[in-house]
Amino acid sequence: MIKGISGARGKVGIDFTAEACLQLARSFGTVIGKGKVLVGRDTRPSGLMAFNAVKEGLLATGHPVIDLGIIPTPAIEFAVTHLAASGAIIITASHNPGEWNGLKFLDNAGLFLSPEKIARVYQPSLSKQICPEIIMPPPEKVEILPQYLEHILKLVDVRLIRQSKMKVAVDCVNGAAFQAAPKLLSELGCEVILLNCEPTGIFPHLPEPKPENLTSLCQKVKESGADLGLAFDPDGDRLALVSEDGKPLSEELTLTFCTDFMLSRRPGPVVINLSTSLAVETLAKKYGVPIYRTPVGEYHVAKKMLEISAVIGGEGNGGVIYPDGHPGRDGLIGTALILEYICRTGKKVSRLAKELPSYFLVKDKAALPDYPKPEMEKRIKTAFPEAALDCQDGFRIAGEDWWCQVRFSNTEPIIRIFSEAASEKEAGNRIALLRKVLSI
Ligand code: MG
Repeated sequence: MIKGISGARGKVGIDFTAEACLQLARSFGTVIGKGKVLVGRDTRPSGLMAFNAVKEGLLATGHPVIDLGIIPTPAIEFAVTHLAASGAIIITASHNPGEWNGLKFLDNAGLFLSPEKIARVYQPSLSKQICPEIIMPPPEKVEILPQYLEHILKLVDVRLIRQSKMKVAVDCVNGAAFQAAPKLLSELGCEVILLNCEPTGIFPHLPEPKPENLTSLCQKVKESGADLGLAFDPDGDRLALVSEDGKPLSEELTLTFCTDFMLSRRPGPVVINLSTSLAVETLAKKYGVPIYRTPVGEYHVAKKMLEISAVIGGEGNGGVIYPDGHPGRDGLIGTALILEYICRTGKKVSRLAKELPSYFLVKDKAALPDYPKPEMEKRIKTAFPEAALDCQDGFRIAGEDWWCQVRFSNTEPIIRIFSEAASEKEAGNRIALLRKVLSI
């Protein structure tokens, strides 16, 4: 399985097996403190098999199991503190295609495990079973969705949004948001146009909410005359938007919209990852608030947000973190914030997108060079002597209104190269220069 700070993922029946799930759950049960553990899952057909294996691992380590059923990842993050659990296991492979599944692990604050703790979860030799005399209760089923939605509704001006009577098309890719998203929109007085909102776990298109995968939603928005289209990934922590003219917006705009909304109402520190668009940085400058960048991964962003009491933050791939809700990426909270933003500004989504700062992000990849990392750093420094260099997550160089990043893949012997600038040409030129100096 591919194991990282955001969890473990594998192909179902190949490396994502009942045995692997049981083993990981038992390790998790050994690493966390005593007490009940929540288990929830997305809609993937392999989820039930994984649930049963995870349940065995947790019972073996003396943890009562609370079964949250099929539910978005952010609802589980909310539920950990709400139900005073000692942790949670989420069965999902997030945006990966249907043949994948995986596990995400949360601590008793509803946050992803620290790098030290997750490393121990991945070491099965450390896992311990409790003595066999202790009788564990059978898993208890808990319906958390009503409380989760009630919690979200307290975060926004429900009356204002209801008055606007917006028409919203929503594509849940037959994933875990299938119930939560339409219910939330109905509570907010929206006319809801459903697309792929069946809990089959059969994804009708590639499930990552990127513009190229949202053709059917764009069409739905156009033909229904909706004010907005929303696309969730299979576990509901990432959100992408389609404007009223049926155009898919870059995922980066989800967080940009939310940041503009929050800072216009309550200016304060912002935290984003090192790969997030400059647009958020430009907004922070406009509102005169500090901005911090962390390595990629919800754990890093959320931890920094709590440390400096950020008002908003997240990851540019459609992962909005609003700490008043809970310190994790939440596509449903993102939805509520964006609806209030649209209502308050009284503008169409396409116009809002045009008015916000915009840059061009070019993405590329190359084979991992056959020389060591310090040599790469030296070459980058020589080629970009004026730029600020950040080595928290690969190499990131930045100037006044541009940045480039070279990141190392966890899963393949490749490097990913990102370049953002005011024009596509400028961004492309820097990628070409990086390729030249790194001989890739
Ligand atoms: Mg996800």
